[in-house]
Amino acid sequence: MAIRRFYIEPEQLEKQAPRITGRQASHIRKVLRLPEGEAIVLVNGRGSVFNARITGFEQGAVRVAVEGQAEDHSESGLDLTVAQGFLKEAKMDDLLRQATELGITRWIPVITERTVARPDAGRLKKRIERWRSIAVEAIKQCGRSTIPEIYSTYDFSEVLDLAETVDLPVFFWENTDSPIPSPSVTRPGSVLLLLGPEGGFTENEARQAEKRGLRFASLGPRILRAETAAVAACSLAQYLFGDLQKSP
Ligand code: SAM
Repeated sequence: MAIRRFYIEPEQLEKQAPRITGRQASHIRKVLRLPEGEAIVLVNGRGSVFNARITGFEQGAVRVAVEGQAEDHSESGLDLTVAQGFLKEAKMDDLLRQATELGITRWIPVITERTVARPDAGRLKKRIERWRSIAVEAIKQCGRSTIPEIYSTYDFSEVLDLAETVDLPVFFWENTDSPIPSPSVTRPGSVLLLLGPEGGFTENEARQAEKRGLRFASLGPRILRAETAAVAACSLAQYLFGDLQKSP
């Protein structure tokens, strides 16, 4: 059986006796019932992976000894940005969790013409903190070594500026029948997926995106809910240009 992976706070790795704490600790003890001496892998959320061993148990914590750095196979070689039109409350949270599991590199909430949910500065700060903790939970759960970068909100025009720095910027638009390009046509190192909010993009936004050279792509003949569309787009990008076809 594959060695189990756990997240450890980077600060713990600087201590003499590092500890895994919180829900993971009780999962190790009560659900997995891993014994002292068990070999495990630790990830620090910043792209480093370590071979380690369980050395003991305490109230609410599992003590570990780090034995050395390991190779990381949990991160996609594709630099994948999701720029998502701001959705209402929990939808953004769920989407970020799923996109993190699908290996995104960066998450950008975008204010578009049809964005209904526009948080003020104080609320936005709290949302960003919450997204960070959701991303940490998601990397723990799926064994990634890196927490995706979480940006503050971008305006639509700022995303178009960013798109110019990316190999393949894709504008998902239900009114096109062009497919996302295949790897036989392009092998991008970086991809940006731009997806609309619940009400979709306006014609004006589509025109601007076209002028700035974004590639228009369809996700098939059905109109998907925004959160379904983003998950489908991430899966396609990782399948075509990233690591979705590799086993753990
Ligand atoms: N404007 C539409 C409406 O309200 O009927 C639908 C918007 S859809 C819920 C939200 C976003 O998901 C769209 O802006 C687009 O980025 C993406 N999307 C949904 N279905 C799609 C499809 N079939 N092809 C490409 N993009 C799609």
